Amino acid sequence: MAATATAGAAAAPPPRQCKLDPKSELRVEVPPDAPLRVRLVAGTAEIFGTELPPEGWVPIPPRSKIAIFTWHGATLELDGVTESEYPSEETPMVVYVNTHAILDARRARARAAAAQGGDLEASQGPRVIVVGPTDSGKSTLCKMLLSWAAKLGWKPTYVDLDIGQGSITIPGCISATPIEKPIDIVDGIPLEMPLVYFYGHPTPSINPDVYKVLMKELAKTLERQFSGNAESRAAGMVINTMGWVEGLGYELLLNAIETFKANVVLEKLWKMLKDAVQSKPNIDVVKLQKSEGVVLRNSKYRQKTRSFRIKEYFYGIANDLAPHSNIVNFSDISVYRIGGGHQAPRSALPIGAEPVADPTRLVAVNISTDMIHTVLAISYAKEPDEIISSNVAGFIHVTDVDIQRYAWKPLLVCGLYLCSPGVNVIHSRKKLTYIAPCPGDLPSRLLIASSLTWYEA
Ligand code: ATP
Ligand code: MN
Repeated sequence: MAATATAGAAAAPPPRQCKLDPKSELRVEVPPDAPLRVRLVAGTAEIFGTELPPEGWVPIPPRSKIAIFTWHGATLELDGVTESEYPSEETPMVVYVNTHAILDARRARARAAAAQGGDLEASQGPRVIVVGPTDSGKSTLCKMLLSWAAKLGWKPTYVDLDIGQGSITIPGCISATPIEKPIDIVDGIPLEMPLVYFYGHPTPSINPDVYKVLMKELAKTLERQFSGNAESRAAGMVINTMGWVEGLGYELLLNAIETFKANVVLEKLWKMLKDAVQSKPNIDVVKLQKSEGVVLRNSKYRQKTRSFRIKEYFYGIANDLAPHSNIVNFSDISVYRIGGGHQAPRSALPIGAEPVADPTRLVAVNISTDMIHTVLAISYAKEPDEIISSNVAGFIHVTDVDIQRYAWKPLLVCGLYLCSPGVNVIHSRKKLTYIAPCPGDLPSRLLIASSLTWYEA
């Protein structure tokens, strides 16, 4: 797909070439509204672990902040606008690829053990968890490790626990998906069969207990899949985490290590976890430096990115998908919220006992206009009480809620619609309008409410 000229491109510099020395990278920031494309003229180069094709232009999505790295030297051609572009020879790539080599050896060992009928532990490949503060390059390192592994034929499972950003699907979810080939530079993580659990908020502090329960459910499902698939078991996992590393964030990281039985911790720019985890057997903690190229993003930028991720789900990364608008009766759906409320009324408790808030309680939600602009998840649960332990099929975005409407019954007179005040009726419409990525009925009537919003500009 060739990038086309836009009004914004009028000020674009002409196509230019850049020669990169071995083990150096070209760092590029793409503006939100002008296209950039890149072509490999000579040599080899990769973007976060995925090689540039030897021929043809590669469109770089808007807002990308990337590094085009070369091991053996390359000449690149850039066409379009950038916010910044500069080469650098200071990269931690050698250390990263050495880490990859160690993981690769562990995968091979696990595969060999499985072939010899080894036990579950011996046949388990590396379960790598990447931890560190915000903007330390966690997501980028995950991408590289996954793409390098996939290039060698492994199908590692990518687990994304970062509900703030959401690299597999929209924010507010924890999810997992097998990575079968290097991650596409344009399309990102493949979305064929992700396993998604819906938390519904961009930060875990709103209901950390639910976050923990969902991690457990995801880990349980993955464990089940691994037990029936020696290859994916040997390939292991790469687990991405949030940048929240203090207080509750720290507690949740320790919880994640335990829940997913991580046996390799890659710490970016950090050493707090080292002390806590080092005493445990079977866990290797490796401290890795951050690339100077990692771009800092403030909370406003993060909020915007979240919004874009929701939009991308419905409209595609290149704005090339058309979501389907649909209307359902309130009576055809049931919306639930996870968490909140009390477990039992005071009257049902022994005298003197205080009602305890149950953070994982399911609460039926009345559909109201407050839901407009929010995202609802479609649960795979068959019954409401299975909602918290079930993954989700996808999402809808509520565009309108029609609670009740006064309507004038029209009289057709000489081809004109006339409204007569004498015949007005009150229609109780109770209908919810939404957009969904696919046409047709919803796959389930059980929906989960969220605090995730997106406003169509
Ligand atoms: P968060 O805590 O928000 O999840 P993170 O630790 O996952 O952040 P990344 O998302 O990996 O950090 O990196 C932050 C930004 O920097 C991303 O947009 C990424 O594409 C960019 N980036 C990472 N490494 C480089 C590099 N070497 N050159 C240019 N940009 C880079
Ligand atoms: Mn990240």
